[in-house]
Amino acid sequence: MCGVFGVRAPERDVARLTYFGLFALQHRGQESAGIAVSENGRLTALRDLGLVPQVFDERNLSGLRGELAIGHTRYSTTGSNAWANAQPLLHHGSARTVALGHNGNLVNAAELRAEGGKRLASTTDSEMIAALIADDPRPLGQAIAGAMARLEGAATVVGIADGQLFAFRDRHGFRPLVLGRLGDDTVVASESCALDMLGAEPDREVRPGELVLIGEDGVETIQAEEPASRGSLCIFEFFYLARPDTRLAGVEMHGARVRMGERLAVEAPVDADLVLPVPDSGTPAAIGFARATGIPFSEGLIKNRYVGRTFIQPEQGMREQGIRMKFNPLAEVEGKRLVVIDDSIVRGSTTRQIVAMLFDAGAAEVHVRISSPPIVSPCYYGIDFASGDELIASHSTVEEVRNTIGATSLAYLSLDGLQAATRRPESALCRACLTRDYPTRVPAETGKLRFEASPTS
Ligand code: SF4
Repeated sequence: MCGVFGVRAPERDVARLTYFGLFALQHRGQESAGIAVSENGRLTALRDLGLVPQVFDERNLSGLRGELAIGHTRYSTTGSNAWANAQPLLHHGSARTVALGHNGNLVNAAELRAEGGKRLASTTDSEMIAALIADDPRPLGQAIAGAMARLEGAATVVGIADGQLFAFRDRHGFRPLVLGRLGDDTVVASESCALDMLGAEPDREVRPGELVLIGEDGVETIQAEEPASRGSLCIFEFFYLARPDTRLAGVEMHGARVRMGERLAVEAPVDADLVLPVPDSGTPAAIGFARATGIPFSEGLIKNRYVGRTFIQPEQGMREQGIRMKFNPLAEVEGKRLVVIDDSIVRGSTTRQIVAMLFDAGAAEVHVRISSPPIVSPCYYGIDFASGDELIASHSTVEEVRNTIGATSLAYLSLDGLQAATRRPESALCRACLTRDYPTRVPAETGKLRFEASPTS
């Protein structure tokens, strides 16, 4: 989970455009944010831990000038949440200096690091990509294509080198990347919602294995890698990660999630008085469930939207409040039979607390409906939801999960139902965390902090 953004606009304030682009991509990463600009080939990067508006203000943004900019919001999946791992990173190689932002996880990071790790300042897999490009003496397009050929796994990348903006996707196309136009200028972003915010027109999605070079002479595209025989755009983007107003492969996420809820109502109906989402992730599916069943929709759980990952650790007494710091039920749930809709269950602890909170508030029944199938296996491509053992559905039946979370009943959307709601063919999407059928080899060592012990070796 990370957001990437890039723009070439010699006549505009590229840092400010990038700031707004990152603002629209904040949901993809809240641990750190950064912007790198290039002015006549000279690179400057500013990055720090925190949310986009915590890292940037009027003063430091106005100091970032240039014709090109890239930006990144990070949620760590390889390497800790430390300043050195914030992006865009700058890597000075023997052939050039590269600024780079990466979304995804490589599955051959350990091999690449063993070859070139001595010169790396960070503990991410992303700097290895920058190092491959920075040390290759060939012209930039060839150097990037050479690097792309060495990468296995998920890599949606934006970068700047030799006074050019570049962007590419791995041959599987795990993570999204859209190309757009802002007048005569060119923009790339993880999601179309970032283009919408700037008033830019989405042009098309960058294809799996495609490299886009954006410089003084315009936009050059190179199919650097043969696309994999089947596409692997992450299905998690459809039911959870991407913003509801984002369009992926022509499909708006909100509509897809409403269809998931409608299908769930057909697959797992229940007699109830109110349909409640777990906000915000469960809201579109709850709308669909309510529409399909005619059961009234209720915002019965009120979310405090300002309790985020950067929330100050509460003192012990408050910590025991647990999920109550984030959600509070309305009095109208009392005495009602509730259907509670969420997009997924990972470890089960949050759902258990929500169910208990609703019973405490007087609910007569709490039926949990999940708008995706059980997550049974970890992700190696950039979503750090949990290790295999921590995933409750990897070692429990649906009835055992129901018992653990304390719900009156529990049902998940079927894989076929989810697939149909995306309006994409099975051959276009990765579904490995739901099926255990991975489109690449699985790395032997997978811990997020696996390069942490020796940050410079
Ligand atoms: S394993 Fe799951 S979360 Fe990871 S890319 Fe595939 S579908 Fe997405």
